[in-house]
Amino acid sequence: MRILTKFIIVQIHVAVTRCLAITGRMNNEPRGCAKGWVVMYCLYCGDCCNRMSPITDNGDPCPLLIVKDNFYVCSDYHNRPKQCEHHMFSSRFCPIGLDVLKLNNNIEHIRKRIDDGWEIIKENGNEPG
Ligand code: SF4
Ligand code: SF4
Repeated sequence: MRILTKFIIVQIHVAVTRCLAITGRMNNEPRGCAKGWVVMYCLYCGDCCNRMSPITDNGDPCPLLIVKDNFYVCSDYHNRPKQCEHHMFSSRFCPIGLDVLKLNNNIEHIRKRIDDGWEIIKENGNEPG
């Protein structure tokens, strides 16, 4: 019985792994995404939202951007436009944010920055989606 259970678990694992590999999701890549591109993590520097927004005329800062303790977050995170939601790029962390915030690719500082940003988003009544 234990051997049969083990066999079934292995088969399920193989099937799921194949399925994820086919859709590109093993690397967090949505179907149809260029190889090597991933969903990019925002570091809340505010640079892009201050320069442009899908909901303003070209070049105008986004009125939904709020700042708290050097974190620029979206005040309507849950309903933000699709263009802001899953930004695909060839690196995991936003290179502009890394530069603006002088994070120097320090993974511990980057992780803390992302975690603290999530907390501020949630404090503003938005559940990260
Ligand atoms: S870290 Fe990148 S995506 Fe996030 S606000 Fe700054 S420029 Fe925009
Ligand atoms: S809607 Fe939110 S995420 Fe999009 S540009 Fe405005 S503040 Fe930034």
